[in-house]
Amino acid sequence: VKGKIQRIRIGAAVLNPCEDCHECSMRCTDGITLTRQEFDQIVAYLHTVDFTKARRVLEQEKRVPWFEDIYRECCLFMDVVKQECLIYQARPLICRLFGRVEWLPCPLGRPVGQLHDGLGMINAYACEIRKTFPQWQMETGLYDLHALLKK
Ligand code: SF4
Ligand code: SF4
Repeated sequence: VKGKIQRIRIGAAVLNPCEDCHECSMRCTDGITLTRQEFDQIVAYLHTVDFTKARRVLEQEKRVPWFEDIYRECCLFMDVVKQECLIYQARPLICRLFGRVEWLPCPLGRPVGQLHDGLGMINAYACEIRKTFPQWQMETGLYDLHALLKK
């Protein structure tokens, strides 16, 4: 049994080239839209995150140098110091599709496991009302950082 578990673990590692890779963070730009359900899931997740950490990331300057004198505006959940997503476990669908569907290929060309129903998912998603996180904040009254983090 031990040998079998070991083989499964090795297989899972091979199938997950995203492990410890943050290259997709270059695409984490401001203005992504999400559904109300995703907004609620992110707010619930934020309640579980260390307050100091969440506050540090959410209050960061998101306008960062990109190339020569060109700057880019990062997603508000991107930790521009550590290059990681604050809400990774609760990130919206569009973020979950990166590298996993043919129209959003892995920028490094790694063999990331492809989702077979990616097109069906995005078609259903496109029919839903989506707004940016700040727009949902305004609509729900959760625009104050302390209200959002419930601390
Ligand atoms: S899709 Fe590619 S670039 Fe993005 S995190 Fe995975 S391995 Fe890295
Ligand atoms: S929610 Fe996370 S994964 Fe999605 S764009 Fe923002 S930082 Fe990137």
